[in-house]
Amino acid sequence: MCGIIGAVAQRDIADVLLAGLRCLEYRGYDSAGLLVVNTQGQTSLLRRVGKVSNLVDAAAQMVLSGETGIAHTRWATHGQPEEMNAHPQVSTNISVVHNGIIENHELLRKYLQGKGYVFLSETDTEVIAHLVHWEQKNGGSLLEAVQRAVPHLRGTYGMVILDSYSPGRLIAARSGSPLVIGRSIGENFIVSDPMALFPITRFFTYLEEGDIAQISCNDIIIVDQYSNCVQRREIESHLEYESCNKGTYTHYMQKEIYEQPKAIKNILTSRCTNGVVFFNELDCHAHALFEKVQHVKIVACGTSYHSGMVSRYWWESLAKISCDIEIASEFRYRQSVVRENSLFITLSQSGETADTLAALRLSKKLGYLGSLSICNVASSSLVRESDFALMTNAGIEVGVASTKSFTSQLVVLLLLVAKFCGLQDKNSSVEKYIVESLQKLPDYIDQVLLQDKLLSELSEEFADKNHVIFIGRGDHYPIAMEGALKLKEISYIHAEAYAAGELKHGPLALIDTHMPVIILAPCNTLLPKLKSNIEEVRARGGLLYIFTEAQSGFLNSERMRIIVLPHLEEVIAPIVYILPLQLLSYYVAIRKGTDLDKPRNLAKSVTVE
Ligand code: GLU
Repeated sequence: MCGIIGAVAQRDIADVLLAGLRCLEYRGYDSAGLLVVNTQGQTSLLRRVGKVSNLVDAAAQMVLSGETGIAHTRWATHGQPEEMNAHPQVSTNISVVHNGIIENHELLRKYLQGKGYVFLSETDTEVIAHLVHWEQKNGGSLLEAVQRAVPHLRGTYGMVILDSYSPGRLIAARSGSPLVIGRSIGENFIVSDPMALFPITRFFTYLEEGDIAQISCNDIIIVDQYSNCVQRREIESHLEYESCNKGTYTHYMQKEIYEQPKAIKNILTSRCTNGVVFFNELDCHAHALFEKVQHVKIVACGTSYHSGMVSRYWWESLAKISCDIEIASEFRYRQSVVRENSLFITLSQSGETADTLAALRLSKKLGYLGSLSICNVASSSLVRESDFALMTNAGIEVGVASTKSFTSQLVVLLLLVAKFCGLQDKNSSVEKYIVESLQKLPDYIDQVLLQDKLLSELSEEFADKNHVIFIGRGDHYPIAMEGALKLKEISYIHAEAYAAGELKHGPLALIDTHMPVIILAPCNTLLPKLKSNIEEVRARGGLLYIFTEAQSGFLNSERMRIIVLPHLEEVIAPIVYILPLQLLSYYVAIRKGTDLDKPRNLAKSVTVE
């Protein structure tokens, strides 16, 4: 969370910083700010509460001259979204933009107050500015001052520091939150996400944990946590810039929902041939290790947790490999027992999710056979730190509510399960069945997308509701959870999901004639059981919305709406059933008039724990 951009150039840089912030806004949007300094040392500081557009409007009213600058779009952790808490945070000549949390900020605040520093904000970040300022007084360069300051910081940071007495260079430091250097001709940049620099450069160097970098117009110096000068590999990004735009769609979320058939086709074309799964990233070492795997431990957060939950059904029923799944923020702080021959799998769209990354690091000390991540960003920390990684290659996802990254994760997970069936069973029939079923998936999704208008109309019945219940059984229970998450995060309607069999253990008490209940009822072996649960809700007057197939025998009646989906192969049904729920949530949010690409209090790429 929080988007950072810094630049050292030979031209006025404010517009570049503002354009970069617009691109980074998905990482936080409760306030934004920038500071530029020109070669004469004149600084301009501008901060505004709210979205980046507020900052852009304010910037249009003034002259912001300066070739060196830093900018930030915030997702508040410490201190309300007020102007004084927006970044950059300043201590005389030292300005800081920061992503992360300084956990010992109270202690440092007292220490620095004792040295005479006056604090003007409620942020944890302000201690960094004063601490660097204090260290600078002890002499040496800004780089040395930062090197002396960082050992005092506990917690996480990706930060960029500017000394307005000495423009023409920036210091960046990384511990826990991502930072990337972008190299251009006669100017250099530092940013949280390379996407923000795509109009300027394609050459990027990722800082590693503990790195501190100094960038000037023509120089980049990186020192590691042991103060050794190091070279980090520069990569050239070939990601499509167009995917950062909404194109003809009204919202990123809508665009990303509609991109799902293409994203899935891409995965299948690049990874399946003649009923066999190929993961080119996995070498013979991976295959040898996979053959030993008897248990899979999946750790993830949010939407990725739900895709992991769906896959548990696949791991156990198809590959006959036991699987458990846990929320990363829980896993990392408990003492767990590692099962024998266990593979540790992490799932994350951004690959920078702080809790998931911490869980991966912890897993390395616990005796797992190895680690594998499934991720959408090849250059992410999670990918770099896992033994093996599989890319979802879904393209950039900007909408805060995940859509295409969820279905792409599910497809890669199902292919992985298929691979294990082929590898361990030496019997490729299950692998072939999975691949053949998956080949039909894009067409099924296209058919569901044709229901767009119907779902838009249906959304009217939800817009004035305060609560919605979602139910499902088996691998559709996690789909109910994901559906509820979509609805609550963008429409702010309270939504809960239950395993249908659990209703009688408490949630049935919530049912009255006003309560909408969304039911996921594919034609599978659990349908008769689910039908009984539906009757239990019906008997208590609940408003039923049943997503099902024509063959299920449900008929529209008063208080019971049937939404008919295609008849599907059982194994891929959960991937299809999330689509109407994504569209429904989207249209409910539109009716409620929320800022659905940037829902309140949330942000994408959750780099704080
Ligand atoms: N802790 C800092 C603040 O609240 C940065 C927050 C973040 O990175 O999300 O301002």
